[in-house]
Amino acid sequence: MLSNILRPSKGLKAVLAASAAIFCTPAAALNIFVCQPEWQALISAHAPDANIFSATTARQDPHYVQARPSLIAKMRQADLAMCSGAELEIGWLPMLQSRSGNLSVQNDAETMIFASDHVAMLDTHQHVDRSMGDIHAHGNPHVQFAINDIPELSKVVTQRLQALDPGNAHQYQARGIRFRANWRQHVNEWRELSKPLKGKKVVGQHATYRYLFKWLDIEQVADLEPKPGLSPTTAHLQSLTRLDKASYDAIVFSSHQDHQPAEWLHRQTGKPVIKLPLTVSGNEQLTDLVDQTLAGLLEVLVVNSDQKSIEQ
Ligand SMILES: [Zn+2]
Repeated sequence: MLSNILRPSKGLKAVLAASAAIFCTPAAALNIFVCQPEWQALISAHAPDANIFSATTARQDPHYVQARPSLIAKMRQADLAMCSGAELEIGWLPMLQSRSGNLSVQNDAETMIFASDHVAMLDTHQHVDRSMGDIHAHGNPHVQFAINDIPELSKVVTQRLQALDPGNAHQYQARGIRFRANWRQHVNEWRELSKPLKGKKVVGQHATYRYLFKWLDIEQVADLEPKPGLSPTTAHLQSLTRLDKASYDAIVFSSHQDHQPAEWLHRQTGKPVIKLPLTVSGNEQLTDLVDQTLAGLLEVLVVNSDQKSIEQ
């Protein structure tokens, strides 16, 4: 009698088999929500079969997103989510999280990854008030360019995927190792390639490239934004025309931003303009983002300026 009770019935066996199947489901079954395309690129390198949905595209400003019903629906389905954090998404993510009713994407869940929690943050502020503009109190959240911290992010993504989908743990492990080895190889190339950029100075638009510029030893001497997060004004742009032209080499803005302020300053000062990508597009990888950004900087700050000095 007792052994009869303990012996699994046919029905129970089927249930056990089905739940085993659930635990061993390939990564194809995972639904992943990311706030920006760079995290889609990072996660897809670790879980190529997952369904990854990005709330924003390369043409959008990730600070300002409408929390529309289709985003809430995607968030509701998510097994895991990844965003930049450090208040980059403060205007829209909390609403998506609460309206989704999904425990997996709440701030304290292991399956809610904030990149900024795993990066050596720059520009943290003890005290912030409104007079400072739309400043990021918890440090600069544009961490897709934190080159030295990407391997740590790869480790975090690997661990969280393994915990969520233990049946495929060794695959995540292998892909994570491959990703980090590839990243390290690129870092060596970038270091060599970018040597001539050291010490260059630019006028920027927002602190989007803060991590990259620090890594490259480029200084952003002024900002087209009068205060962080505020659109360039005529009065502020006028004041930038009075900057010593010898104090900077180029004007940098980001592909999702309005090109007119940078071009206006270019017409007034003759300083070259560089448009850089904010994030990956299409199926690009994270290494492509850095490749393109370095190429954009090198083309204007090194190749063109060398040609100019030959012509002179
Ligand atoms: Zn920002």
